[in-house]
Amino acid sequence: MKKLRIAIQKSGRLSEKSINLLKEAGVSLTNGERKLLAQSGSFPIEVLYLRDDDIPQYVEDGVADIGIVGENVFAEKGKEADIVERLGFSRCRLSLAIPKQLNYEGVEFFEGKKIATSYPVILEKFLNEKGVNAEIHEISGSVEIAPGIGLADGIFDIVSSGSTLISNGLTEVDVVMKSEAVVIGNRDMDQEKREILNDLLFRIRSVLASTNNKYILLNAPNDKLDDIISVIPGMKSPTVMPLADSGWSSVHSVLSESQFWQVIGKLKEFGAQGILVIPIEKMII
Ligand code: ATP
Ligand code: ZN
Repeated sequence: MKKLRIAIQKSGRLSEKSINLLKEAGVSLTNGERKLLAQSGSFPIEVLYLRDDDIPQYVEDGVADIGIVGENVFAEKGKEADIVERLGFSRCRLSLAIPKQLNYEGVEFFEGKKIATSYPVILEKFLNEKGVNAEIHEISGSVEIAPGIGLADGIFDIVSSGSTLISNGLTEVDVVMKSEAVVIGNRDMDQEKREILNDLLFRIRSVLASTNNKYILLNAPNDKLDDIISVIPGMKSPTVMPLADSGWSSVHSVLSESQFWQVIGKLKEFGAQGILVIPIEKMII
């Protein structure tokens, strides 16, 4: 039987999360210590460990069928491949930043200036769109120190919390791109590989849905049931069962992580009691 070959980052910010996602999706990797190529005993997949920068090229060439990579790297490399799933982890943004004491009124600030970055392609495209001429100075790491040592007037780099910028006396002035981890796929996969991919994507979606959702149980006074149900719609609609204590019902539903605190506040307001929130192992959607 054919195998689907997936490229993931060998070591770095995406590695553990990529391996965990595969594991949760039932793809266990037999040879634990990381060889270049690992086989899965449980699913027709083999895993190729690479530097993240190389993943788009391998997928374009079909040496790997799919890959997990940051959208930022995929955009920078400009290789022929398709985003087949967004994974929601390793979220970050690519931003322009300048020394904090400088005055910034708009992207024209960069006219005639020097910008250090590891993402020259994305930056150049952005500056062209804005009609700004700036000198792009490509460096491969420690971009944030460039202004301090006189190498550049500003930088264009990955930001997540912003603490690296602050500790280098910089301030973020423009967000150019938002990024998250994505699965990219080769454009010429044959039917057999596409079927394996569809199966894998189905599993991945179930894992993502389960981590983004919680199971919630609560006791509701019957006269407030409608209010309570209106804030927790559930997958179809909530399950409502009478409690032995008349006048009360037990309500079960599914709640997305992002709405969690807001919804809990409302439920308490409406008189819900005994609220239990339970993680979901897998969620089939
Ligand atoms: P490699 O050795 O494979 O070339 P790298 O050093 O280029 O690795 P990492 O620092 O491991 O890359 O980052 C991998 C990806 O993780 C980035 O391309 C980006 O999508 C995401 N990322 C980077 N920094 C952050 C951050 N601070 N927060 C969240 N995600 C990030
Ligand atoms: Zn890299």
